[in-house]
Amino acid sequence: MKNAPKKSLGQNFLRDEVVLHKIIAASDLGSEDFVIEIGPGEGVLTEQLAKHTKKVVAIELDGDLMPQLTEKFATQKNVEFIHADILNINLPALIENHIKNVETRHCLVSTPVNYKLIANIPYYITSPIIRLFLEQENQPKKILLMIQKEVAERIVASKGQMSILSISVQYYGMAEILFRVNKEAFFPVPKVDSAVIKITPNRKFNKELDKKFFRLVKAGFSAKRKTLANNLANSLQLDKDLVSEKLKALSLNENARAQELDIADWQRLAEIF
Ligand code: SAH
Repeated sequence: MKNAPKKSLGQNFLRDEVVLHKIIAASDLGSEDFVIEIGPGEGVLTEQLAKHTKKVVAIELDGDLMPQLTEKFATQKNVEFIHADILNINLPALIENHIKNVETRHCLVSTPVNYKLIANIPYYITSPIIRLFLEQENQPKKILLMIQKEVAERIVASKGQMSILSISVQYYGMAEILFRVNKEAFFPVPKVDSAVIKITPNRKFNKELDKKFFRLVKAGFSAKRKTLANNLANSLQLDKDLVSEKLKALSLNENARAQELDIADWQRLAEIF
């Protein structure tokens, strides 16, 4: 007997075949591709991913789903399930052991490891999941995720609507919404609509540099109603006039707010602070 879907684990299983095939089509899969999937659930997406790629490694936290997953894929040799919390996993080791080792059997040149992250994820941990994969050495070459529609819109925001979330994604890559998905596509039907986003990483993770960059971004966003200049001065304990001068030197309005700056602006700012 199947277990009831667990709300606490964000379990809303995809039931719409059209949406499923749109995800597969958008993933542009090849027979040499390696895929990491988070939260395979009942294995609907897993099955399609496995059909079109070399190997799928799927991480599922719910132990109650494991027996049915292993049974369903018993004869499918290119699927591997790992019973674990994605946020508690040693990702570099996972990539090393489950992807790189397979790759090196056939080919000597093995770094960087090429893989894609494709998943209909548990929405309650959307930003930690994205950060986990962008803020590490072996980033995926492509990320395709089903997430809550509003969160997708915040991620792809442009100048005027920027937030720490949009910056933390767009700093590392190009982010776009591919299509929106009605909540009726899932069982049980969730409260929110969804969207599939694609992130194409184009900047390597650099621990020291990125830490400095985000320290500045966080300072800029520290108080919602205050200007960027005030926030920077207060959070970084700098002289307000000095901060205003630096903003002016970059042709940024001294009354500008943090959400009005895009990635390029923040980078220019990071260079002089
Ligand atoms: N991809 C499936 C299921 C989506 S529901 C589908 O499209 O139908 C989200 C899935 O993520 C559930 O299977 C849930 O058990 C799993 N999950 C929740 N938290 C997780 C975590 N921290 N690590 C790994 N999987 C998790």
